[in-house]
Amino acid sequence: MADENMKKNGGISVETEHIFPIIKKWLYSEKEIFLRELVSNASDAVTKLRRLASLGQYEADTDAYRITVSFNKSDKTITVTDNGIGMTADEVERYICNMALSGAVEFIQKYEGEQESGDGIIGHFGLGFYSSFMVADRVDILTKSYTDAPAVFWTCTEEGNYEIEAGDRDAHGTSIVMHISADGEEYLSEYKLREILERYCSFMPTEIYLVDEEKEEEPKKDGEAGAETPINDTHPLWQKNPSDCTEEEYKAFYQKVFNDYKDPLFYMHINADYPLNFKGILYFPRIRDQYESLEGKVKLYYNQVFVADNIKEVIPEYLLMLRGVLDCPELPLNVSRSYLQNSGYVSKISAHIIKKVADKLNSLFNQQRERFEEIWKDIRTFVEYGCMCDRKFYDRVEKSLLFALVGGGFMTKEEYLAEAKEKHEGKVYYATDEKLQAQYIAMYEAKGIKVVLFDSILDTRFAESVERYADGVKFIRVDAETDALKGDGEAENAEAIVTLFEKVANDGVKLTVRAEVLADETVPAILNISEDARRMEEMMKMYMPDNPSPMPSEATLIVNTKNPIVKRLSDGGYGEKADAVAKQIYSLALVSQRPLSADEMKRFLKDSYEFLSMLS
Ligand code: ADP
Ligand code: MG
Repeated sequence: MADENMKKNGGISVETEHIFPIIKKWLYSEKEIFLRELVSNASDAVTKLRRLASLGQYEADTDAYRITVSFNKSDKTITVTDNGIGMTADEVERYICNMALSGAVEFIQKYEGEQESGDGIIGHFGLGFYSSFMVADRVDILTKSYTDAPAVFWTCTEEGNYEIEAGDRDAHGTSIVMHISADGEEYLSEYKLREILERYCSFMPTEIYLVDEEKEEEPKKDGEAGAETPINDTHPLWQKNPSDCTEEEYKAFYQKVFNDYKDPLFYMHINADYPLNFKGILYFPRIRDQYESLEGKVKLYYNQVFVADNIKEVIPEYLLMLRGVLDCPELPLNVSRSYLQNSGYVSKISAHIIKKVADKLNSLFNQQRERFEEIWKDIRTFVEYGCMCDRKFYDRVEKSLLFALVGGGFMTKEEYLAEAKEKHEGKVYYATDEKLQAQYIAMYEAKGIKVVLFDSILDTRFAESVERYADGVKFIRVDAETDALKGDGEAENAEAIVTLFEKVANDGVKLTVRAEVLADETVPAILNISEDARRMEEMMKMYMPDNPSPMPSEATLIVNTKNPIVKRLSDGGYGEKADAVAKQIYSLALVSQRPLSADEMKRFLKDSYEFLSMLS
């Protein structure tokens, strides 16, 4: 059957000497992708034949479609075999000898001299097949088209010289035999090959088998393999219609792909039609403790072929703790960073994902508020951070944002502000420490005002973002003002009280004293540090951590003239002990506002003992 007239020699033309060194040099760091390229070509070949069969242009034979990756350590070969569409001599000429290289020439002209990483080259420029030369010094193709055309044998050296002649093969399909060079010897290992196949080919649409040629003779006829199991799952869950998938399937898929025994908190099955045309499943992992890595993993696929992990151009940074799979057939199999950064398509995918995540949160909030509140502690870091990073995300989830309240329970921003309307319009009172700020919290609660618990640094940063985004909303820590805590009437004897307290309280720190009427008569005095001054202070601390000042410069001591002790003070009821009493009141106000320094604590205790000794 070998037709002598068919035999032909060739050199892969003028460009050869440029291309092969580039393949070796530029792609050195990602050598292993040669296998992905060849297996995906094999899978494409099968897909094409399947399509022809479904169109009735080819009568399918009984053979099951399959791809076999086999290796032979003694012969130093790795072979990728498929029973797909195959190639005629003409097609080998056209697709292997010419097409691929014209892509390469285009690449050289465009990027010569540029120091870009190699991942953008292969595939993008049709160098997929030639990536085999990263590990081989000779590559053979034995192929037979599904048509009547005779089989073809093509062999090419690493210098780019090829021969093409009639081949010896009866069944349609293609075998690519790589004669492994010193550069590729590490791949002559079952472990290594399996690892690469599992990484890149776990969900390819054609069954893939790995065979050690020296261990078991591969059956000559395809399909006689018996009970072997393929490397891959040819029908990954994301390709299914969401309405056909069960909760169990989603969980099982998650556990298998991410090796996480904990169930995810929730998931989204995305099925974006034209023009985006991508599918995927995104999971929100359950993060048990903060030591666990927050980084998730979103795997990007191209028609079920793995491309890369955590492409931050596709998934915005604040969503990087998501786990999942995305299949984007519109992206080239090999995507370079610069391509992704400049691609309008990619930014649309990204926007779509953000929208889907926001929709999911909103629907959980609207339909399962109880469950939403349960998982809020797990998701709030990410939601708040997302809002800070991305105004659009905030706008989408604004109505579902929860505030955790001191003492338990949740309110949305809207619910809180609606309730605030009468007594403290536009103001959200919050505490950063339930214990330390207990005195203040109690005063707000006595007034029937709810206090939000913001106990992480992120919370307060988030609050600042909300102030920027939402008109007329201001977050105020419970110890920042007394506007909502006032009682009826005017402060009595204000001047005398202020003078007395200024005298006892001014121990080196600048302090303003004010006499006021507070609703809670049991409290003689409290300290206030205005919200803005405290925020400024916190910012300074962040930038100059070594220079902490003991108290913000704008502290105000509010003395409650309705309190019986204060009343007695201004009536002269304590006689010469007035200073000591005032001093004690000031110290207690200080203690209820912040932790004392060691010196302050010693002095406070000493004063207190002295104070007790005065009791008759
Ligand atoms: P791409 O896959 O991007 O087209 P490749 O360099 O990987 O570029 O392959 C070039 C062409 O060679 C393919 O488009 C296909 O026509 C042909 N080809 C490669 N491998 C096979 C195969 N196993 N079976 C049939 N045709 C193949
Ligand atoms: Mg290819």
